[in-house]
Amino acid sequence: MNLIDSHCHIDGEQFDADRDEVVERARAGGVVAMLNIGTGDPHSDDFRRTVAVAERYDNVYCSVGVHPHDAKLYDDKAEEHLIEMVKSSKKVIAWGEIGLDYYYDHSPRDVQRDGFRRQIRTAKELDLPVIIHSRDADDETVEILREEFGPPEGGTQNGIMHCFGGTAAMAEALMPLGFLISFAGNVTFKKADNLREAARVVPLDKLLIETDCPFLTPVPFRGTRNEPSFVVHTAKFLADFYGVELEYLAEQTTTNFTNFFRIDL
Ligand SMILES: [Zn+2]
Ligand SMILES: [Zn+2]
Repeated sequence: MNLIDSHCHIDGEQFDADRDEVVERARAGGVVAMLNIGTGDPHSDDFRRTVAVAERYDNVYCSVGVHPHDAKLYDDKAEEHLIEMVKSSKKVIAWGEIGLDYYYDHSPRDVQRDGFRRQIRTAKELDLPVIIHSRDADDETVEILREEFGPPEGGTQNGIMHCFGGTAAMAEALMPLGFLISFAGNVTFKKADNLREAARVVPLDKLLIETDCPFLTPVPFRGTRNEPSFVVHTAKFLADFYGVELEYLAEQTTTNFTNFFRIDL
């Protein structure tokens, strides 16, 4: 069985003690690739560490970009540094995570919006797809993506809506703009009927799965540190939900990922 964790954070200090084992456990569990999303301060060495982790392991790819929490840190110098990181390694295959987070509001909203649009444009110039984070800001996220990526062109692969937390209508708005929809472990939570309602409108060829580890541990490991090998629990849950075999869902989401990024595993 081939699985892919489309969004993880294994470059963080939560994995410093046992990163090799975590990657090996994932590989042993059928996870053939992981996309490690770089986060942190673009004026520090945070993103060098992101790229170094991807360089260390065959099956780990990475992205760089400034999270909406840190949008206030995005400036010319940050942009220059991140572009340098993209050019430093073939393992950097996406820009993100970028977007809007109006739940935490760690950066002022107008600053988040500016940083979001600016990074979309930079990613386009570099011909990289974007990884989108959106929390309590779904209408504005869709509006910005529509303005920056619309009108949709057939077959364009623009980005991934990660840890999908929106409505069915949001998923339906994003897929024609060239976005894949990625579900994390929270889709398995008892109270997440709203997420499952959205999952119902996502066809299997637009679907990805992720851990967003170390956060959002899926049932039955809720409460412990999440890691890429746990992506199988979200895969199992969604296979049941869609009424398909686990192997089928695993292969389909893996193909979606490798086609999207045009990578050979
Ligand atoms: Zn996120
Ligand atoms: Zn993330």
